[in-house]
Amino acid sequence: MSAPVRFLPLVDTHAHLNLDAFAADLDDVVARSRSGRFPEIRGRRVEDALFRPFVAAAVCPAVDLESSLRSLELSRRFDALFAAVGIHPNHAALAEPGDWEAIERLALAAVDDVKVDANAPNADAAGSAPTALDGAKLVAIGETGLDRYWDDAPFDVQSALFLKHLELGRRTGLPVLIHSRDANDDLDAVLRDFYADASVSPNSPDSPKLTAKSPSPGVVHSFSGTPEQALAWTELGFYLGFGGFVTYPNRKFAEIAEAAQVAPLDRVLLETDAPFLTPHPLRGKLERNEPLTTAFVAKRIAELRGLSVADVVRQTTENAARLFRFPTLPTEPSPL
Ligand SMILES: [Zn+2]
Ligand SMILES: [Zn+2]
Repeated sequence: MSAPVRFLPLVDTHAHLNLDAFAADLDDVVARSRSGRFPEIRGRRVEDALFRPFVAAAVCPAVDLESSLRSLELSRRFDALFAAVGIHPNHAALAEPGDWEAIERLALAAVDDVKVDANAPNADAAGSAPTALDGAKLVAIGETGLDRYWDDAPFDVQSALFLKHLELGRRTGLPVLIHSRDANDDLDAVLRDFYADASVSPNSPDSPKLTAKSPSPGVVHSFSGTPEQALAWTELGFYLGFGGFVTYPNRKFAEIAEAAQVAPLDRVLLETDAPFLTPHPLRGKLERNEPLTTAFVAKRIAELRGLSVADVVRQTTENAARLFRFPTLPTEPSPL
């Protein structure tokens, strides 16, 4: 008699399903992710005979006000999708006056049940907050952070906006999704400074930073730092999101793999950054990355740490549920 298949509920903690890349077939993408089926990759199965991973939940980060509203809308439409609101550092210079304030209002209204007066000035900038939030599942602020790779916005503009997101995270108790590309030393300085008064750890019950809402200030997503930074940032209370980078065999990424080896396992999250950063061995074979490829990230982290894939999936899903305070997630895939 063959052993029963075990289902492995994954969480993709960073999937841009609210971007145009998914506009035409989002229903299919979500259904495929929830079912754990990857029919278009011939000859490659995410599952093996015993384990069938599927995506139980995905967090959709925003890059601007429009995608923030879209993220909220998707979280309303799909049980498995959760929303974030924020302005990406590469979009920092494109934001219109009032965009940040509208995002702030949404986040505050989501956690405080603030009744936004529909007649107040600017109340309609993003539609009214109660309408946008109605039935939506807002779980995070972002993405925000620093980016010297693309250099799309002046660094001081990025930095100022980043600090506003951190303040909003602190005010709302919602975790912040942090982006850092070629800016890990800058990020290190900001985090140490912003969270410096932690003679008590941000996770101790005595910490002034711990709110009733949040067990952590957030996650450094698509982690690309050193092993030392991995340890320092988790010490400050952060989670680390690992995605495509950790799977790339190129020596350039060896340090990231090392960080994934030494980071406390209860702070490790899986992510895709879909539609970007498709993991090895699918890189170059998929037109765009999709949430289900987190299974390959889990597999890689399992190899690096000498654990089973099932253990890595179980622990990372538990971590995500803790950080984002998910409701009970499905334990079985849905039919395709
Ligand atoms: Zn990012
Ligand atoms: Zn992203």
